[in-house]
Amino acid sequence: MTAPGTQTAWAQDRAHLLHPYTDFATFADEGSHVIGRAEGVHVIDAEGKQLLDGIAGLWCVNIGHGREEMAETIAKQVMDMQYYNPFGHSTNVPAAQLGAKLAELAPAGLNRVFYTCGGSTANDAAVRLGHYFFDMKGQHRKKKIISRQNGYHGATYVAASLTGIHGTKYGFDRIGEDFISHVSEANLYAKPEGWSDGDYCDYLVREFEARIQQLGPDNVAAFIAEPIMGAGGVLVAPEGYHKRMYEVCKAHDMLYIADEVVTGFGRLGEWFSSEALFGYTPDILVCAKGLTSGYIPLGATMISDEIYGTIARPQCEGGIFSMGFTYFGHPVACAAALKNIEIIEREGILNHVRGIGPYFQDSAQSLLNLPIVGDVRGSHLMLGIDLVSDKASKAPIELTEQAAAKVFQGCMERGAIVRPVGDRIILSPPLIISKDQCDELIGAVAGSVQDFI
Ligand code: PLP
Repeated sequence: MTAPGTQTAWAQDRAHLLHPYTDFATFADEGSHVIGRAEGVHVIDAEGKQLLDGIAGLWCVNIGHGREEMAETIAKQVMDMQYYNPFGHSTNVPAAQLGAKLAELAPAGLNRVFYTCGGSTANDAAVRLGHYFFDMKGQHRKKKIISRQNGYHGATYVAASLTGIHGTKYGFDRIGEDFISHVSEANLYAKPEGWSDGDYCDYLVREFEARIQQLGPDNVAAFIAEPIMGAGGVLVAPEGYHKRMYEVCKAHDMLYIADEVVTGFGRLGEWFSSEALFGYTPDILVCAKGLTSGYIPLGATMISDEIYGTIARPQCEGGIFSMGFTYFGHPVACAAALKNIEIIEREGILNHVRGIGPYFQDSAQSLLNLPIVGDVRGSHLMLGIDLVSDKASKAPIELTEQAAAKVFQGCMERGAIVRPVGDRIILSPPLIISKDQCDELIGAVAGSVQDFI
């Protein structure tokens, strides 16, 4: 039976909501999923159908849905003190405690936190902090940013300009390539025929160095990258890539910004992956999503002691960091983040991901037996599946065939949610997923791909 209010909600939704990244032309006619409840790794739709959430909401519900203690923590903080102006000298206990906790969890030397409302605003803050840093050093021209094709960094004007996903550009003016410049993504599946991973890595590093020279090292402030590219297709870089890109940054007095919005808080079995898995310590680290497991919005931009040492100058010596959101350090969001981190620690969720991650990746390799699956890649609980029309040439399946959308539909019928992106399927389940549920998810994809063939 359809839950009461569903039809009204559906009609109100169609009449009033501007859904993100949605084709408005087909929007009004397409069926809608009204999700009313969620628990553990499942969401329950208005018809009462239970669906295995293979994408953790949107890469964010790391501890799983419907945790009572999260609700209690949020309610208690609302009753104690739900908000007060954070500017200047006032603070609140959860914001301060979370700052200390994040400094403990982040790589050594990243001890200062700027709170934002989510990942996009945290990336905006990263760029502005980088600019302010070089201004305070007197390097006023050092402002350009290098980002990557296919990287996703968010939807605000700056974050959308950092983003290198082609399809997100239509209909928008963005900051020009002379100011935010995009180099190639690191996509091992698309590396040229006959190249080793090492050759490919050399090529990417050379391209990066050439771009810095082209823009002028004195003009380039920073490089921004996701440790593993998420929305761009779960692209894993060749071994040593990030460390080498970091070394190039250091050779040119540039900052390395690690966008760990997806990879942070356990998705790769670590609090943060840049140092732990990829061997470099970013100057700026950006996180959101898993920080609160999506129970409430919050983002954070962490900066190195070196950056802080430079920008922490008295106003009379050069200025003031003129940036801040009304909801900086929002007490309810910070209390939720602290509880979320406590749950991850108490339940040993990082360890669980270190164990189940390889199992998930190994079982997904079975999908390669299907004729239209060209590549299956990822790490731990991030997985990308490329659908191809020809395995030998790796030609992507025609978008007009809507293969990914049909696989998504097939999975829904089988009781699992996956994410179709162009000719790809992306999986990023809650971190508490069990082996049986991994099998169920991969089985749903396999069955749906088979139906499509
Ligand atoms: N950075 C990355 C790597 C992301 O995947 C996202 C969102 O998916 C963002 C930034 C933007 O975060 P938000 O949607 O919270 O603004």
